[in-house]
Amino acid sequence: MNSQDLEQWDKEYVWHPFTQMKTYRESRPLIIERGEGSYLIDVDGKRYLDGYASLWVNVHGHNEPELNGALIEQVNKVAHSTLLGSANVPSILLAKKLAEITPGSLSKVFYSDTGSAAVEIALKVAYQYWQNIDPVKHRNKNKFVSLDEAYHGDTVGAVSVGGMDLFHRIFKPLLFQRISAPSPYAYHMTEYGDPEAVKNHCLKELEKLLKKQSEEIAGLIIEPLVQGAAGIITHPHGFLKEVGQLCKKYNILLICDEVAVGFGRTGTMFACEQEDVVPDIMCMGKGITGGYMPLAATIMNEQIFQSFLGEREEHKTFYHGHTYTGNQLACALALKNIELMESRNLIKDIQKKSKYLSQRLQSLYELPIVGDIRQRGFMIGVEIVKDRQTKETFTLQENVVSGIIHTARENGLIIRELGPVITMMPILSMSEKELDFMVETVYRAIQEVSIHKGLIPAAN
Ligand code: PLP
Repeated sequence: MNSQDLEQWDKEYVWHPFTQMKTYRESRPLIIERGEGSYLIDVDGKRYLDGYASLWVNVHGHNEPELNGALIEQVNKVAHSTLLGSANVPSILLAKKLAEITPGSLSKVFYSDTGSAAVEIALKVAYQYWQNIDPVKHRNKNKFVSLDEAYHGDTVGAVSVGGMDLFHRIFKPLLFQRISAPSPYAYHMTEYGDPEAVKNHCLKELEKLLKKQSEEIAGLIIEPLVQGAAGIITHPHGFLKEVGQLCKKYNILLICDEVAVGFGRTGTMFACEQEDVVPDIMCMGKGITGGYMPLAATIMNEQIFQSFLGEREEHKTFYHGHTYTGNQLACALALKNIELMESRNLIKDIQKKSKYLSQRLQSLYELPIVGDIRQRGFMIGVEIVKDRQTKETFTLQENVVSGIIHTARENGLIIRELGPVITMMPILSMSEKELDFMVETVYRAIQEVSIHKGLIPAAN
């Protein structure tokens, strides 16, 4: 078996996610064989800095000896047994730990294996909560509010609360109804004024609809601080806090989807901590195992959990579960991941390196097609525009953004685009030197593509 065989079999048998397979099959795929710290190494031995943290999940680097050790230790005991009717050691210890590190009275953990499933669980729990406490009074509480451009995953429930037209419109006939609220995308809403004015406008609109429809609304789901998949839309400061207050005022459950922003990504363990917000339900996934195993969790407060208690014949039970719910290998890794985050003081380190990164990123503004640089911690989006005044973006056919991603890869950096936005999601343990390489490689890639497309002169 050589790299040509692998390429041929990949194109023959594997259907890649979010990928136009026609284009993919015409291209030279990157086939990863190994990982080492912040680097991924392909089948030809070429090294790449993982500037995407392998889809926003990696925390301590690849092939991390302590995480490897935790996995081996657990697999030597048992790989999996079910949580249906029995318990297991790592899932108990992890649930206790999650209750300790999440804010407020969040303390009841329901496990699953992807962020989308964590969201499905949150939505079903929120709906059933109202039915459990008073099915007559709350018979109409069956709708959810989410923001424009929201992304909460790809299963049908998660897509129902999604607001990304490109991904979601085809599935519309399959979805339940969502109530959409404006997202404070300050860069594209200058008609309202500065980010503070944009925030106030969005909050006013949100309050209007909550006031009118609160009787029908079971919950509001939000990506705290940053809408990741929409292109790193960073919310103005204070937005989440006021959303939380509105939910309280109108008796609506607040669901914080921390799948992308949780586990240190924005510079605190959970993003909602930065605005002193305690949701009723929190979804987590991605970084929970340090990027090793598929695990997700939905953590609820005591009051919600209590509403599900009753005699069996009352049918207040949460009839939901997955085969691998609470898998031992994944839970053991998550425990070790959190332990390492604490013992290595990773959160403080991210805060310090985020400031450094922020200074370095400013250099990208020297390049005329860089319209906006958005950053919260280790989540970075660089919006590429044709014209800084009009903010018009390039078409897909112009291949500018994809060209930048391709050039960066040729130069040893893995990053990805989200529409017109170049996104960088470095591994949380990356050194300043590695972060320098990431920013410099992006700079060079934007410059090279700009020259190649005749957007700036070669001498620039
Ligand atoms: N929620 C948010 C905010 C996400 O960014 C994602 C994935 O990117 C999900 C949910 C879905 O997670 P998964 O891809 O693990 O199903």
